[in-house]
Amino acid sequence: MGLAEHVVGRRIERVTVHHPRSVRRHEPGPADFTDRLTMVTVVGAERRGKYLWLPLEGGDAVLAHLGMSGQMLIAGPDVDEPRHLRIAFDLDDGNRLLFADQRIFGGMSISDDGAELPPEIAHIARDPLDALFDPADFRVRLRRRQTGVKRALLDQTLVSGVGNIYADEALWRTPLHYARNTRHLRTREVDDLLGHVGAVMLEALAQGGTTFDTLYVNVNGESGYFERSLAVYGQEGKACRRCGTAIRRDSFMNRSSFTCPTCQPRPRRGRW
Ligand SMILES: [Zn+2]
Repeated sequence: MGLAEHVVGRRIERVTVHHPRSVRRHEPGPADFTDRLTMVTVVGAERRGKYLWLPLEGGDAVLAHLGMSGQMLIAGPDVDEPRHLRIAFDLDDGNRLLFADQRIFGGMSISDDGAELPPEIAHIARDPLDALFDPADFRVRLRRRQTGVKRALLDQTLVSGVGNIYADEALWRTPLHYARNTRHLRTREVDDLLGHVGAVMLEALAQGGTTFDTLYVNVNGESGYFERSLAVYGQEGKACRRCGTAIRRDSFMNRSSFTCPTCQPRPRRGRW
């Protein structure tokens, strides 16, 4: 992650909360948030799914939930503030760590004794790019769910970091229909799926860096995923890149699922 190199060892000199809703999960309130973080040194930068946390000297951590639209940015002192700036940290090297969040579904709080792993997110599973992610353990727990494979991918207690877009793209690449029951997936299918999930996430992260001014470092991948990279997501009616069949859209968990009906046939009742 690009964030660590910019914040580790840096002291926070000033904290500005531009929107109180962005610290609503910090129960003691905005003043306590800014007071406790001022003149404190950041000693790490960790990520799990849509959460980031910055371990602090003394054992607490700043916990950030990116929500639907949250982004953490590093900006030089002369860079214009991004739209939707909610919280700003002035660092002792002159750079600023900025939390921008258009829809304010995300937010920040201080996690007491959360430096190693904030207890608030201990139930969130690791993401497939995490060096400590365990594929064999994932396979076992996935099969136990006995549910549709996409539903399982979106379950953060099983695997984190996989949103609707990543899931659809990875399922098309494997290829697997989203309704395939996890109980019947072969080891090879699970391994292929995991590989594709990881690849899609890496591609999105790599592209995320180019959607901002070069002075910004975007550490939240999915928002930067360019539409031209997408094989199925949002491509209803267009030709499948593999076989030419028209991409289909289904309603799924209040959202949409996009598939190629030929490459990803829907499982028949009583089979798979
Ligand atoms: Zn196809």
